[in-house]
Amino acid sequence: MAIWNPWHGCHKISPGCVNCYVYRRDESIGKDASIVKKTGDYNLPMKKNRQGDYKLTAEDGVVFTCMTSDFFLEDADEWRQGCWDMIRERRDLQFYIITKRIDRFAQCIPTDWGNGWDHVTICATCENQERTDYRLPILLDLPIRHREVICEPMLGEINMEKYLGTGLIAHVTCGGESGNNARPCDFRWIQEVRRECIRCGVPFTFKQTGAVFVKDGKVYHLERKLQIQQAKKSAYSYIPGMGMAEKIVYKLPERRTLFERLRKSDFRSRFHLSDKEKVYIAEKGIETIRRHAQDFVSKRLSAENPENDGKQTPMKGHPVFIAQHATACCCRSCLEKWHHIPTGKALNQEEQSYIVDVLIEWLTGECGR
Ligand code: SF4
Ligand SMILES: [Zn+2]
Repeated sequence: MAIWNPWHGCHKISPGCVNCYVYRRDESIGKDASIVKKTGDYNLPMKKNRQGDYKLTAEDGVVFTCMTSDFFLEDADEWRQGCWDMIRERRDLQFYIITKRIDRFAQCIPTDWGNGWDHVTICATCENQERTDYRLPILLDLPIRHREVICEPMLGEINMEKYLGTGLIAHVTCGGESGNNARPCDFRWIQEVRRECIRCGVPFTFKQTGAVFVKDGKVYHLERKLQIQQAKKSAYSYIPGMGMAEKIVYKLPERRTLFERLRKSDFRSRFHLSDKEKVYIAEKGIETIRRHAQDFVSKRLSAENPENDGKQTPMKGHPVFIAQHATACCCRSCLEKWHHIPTGKALNQEEQSYIVDVLIEWLTGECGR
């Protein structure tokens, strides 16, 4: 990867900017990051070595553009055209632009932009729900060939499924905040975006935990190095079809604690079998019901990214469906939340049998009521 910073300095405009790393780094060396200046690297894509070849080549990988500022900053309006000229010239490179000012994009593009340039990726930052609902509709509406989303620093729970469902977002990255005053990032927020990505078949990257990471209600303080390491180790990133979630280490819950938790849930404990369904089970016999359950689990739940996930289990029609809702075995999100089985992986035999056992235990309990 290469970095091209045509100018340096920025202005804070968004909750995600509060602890901006450009400001932090500049302050540590006594510089004022709010002064925006062109850098000596302004024309980096055009720079050549002594042999007369471009310094930046395709082998350098993606060119991350404007990482110590914002490409669409007002202060840079008169310099940007020159950048577009260089980008147009270097179609052999891949440019990657991350911005919090996607709302300025339309007024900042060159006249020959057309439907977008194939070698430019535009990535909108969304740190909370409010910014997501403001920026993503704009991002989706613009003529851009490659759109990505970064939730970093992630500051709250974010739902973006309706935007992901358009099929126009190529990748989502999530991560916490680093630095001394870092705000906490809750693993549940990361999990939720990941599930939405999996349901929509969008690649997802968990980049870093941030300095203050909350998991299962416990707060962890991590030094910089560990923030990226831990995220990597969790193997929580997801690329459709790569079986990456296979590597996640997790433990199925202990059966007794699981049923205790289910009893405490207002929603789950509301489900019960009707007399008709009890008669049905008595007539068929529990072994037949077990086979039905095996069949539902295998056909509706076990794929890496099941079709219609979240809506695949009807509310009536078979006692097993009721059992699935009552025990949170209804969809992959519930299986992850309640049973720790990660989304984004095919269910193996052990997991499928575990689910069937839970369902049968609940059904037998109901029939004895
Ligand atoms: S837009 Fe980015 S670079 Fe600019 S102040 Fe905010 S976080 Fe910093
Ligand atoms: Zn569910």
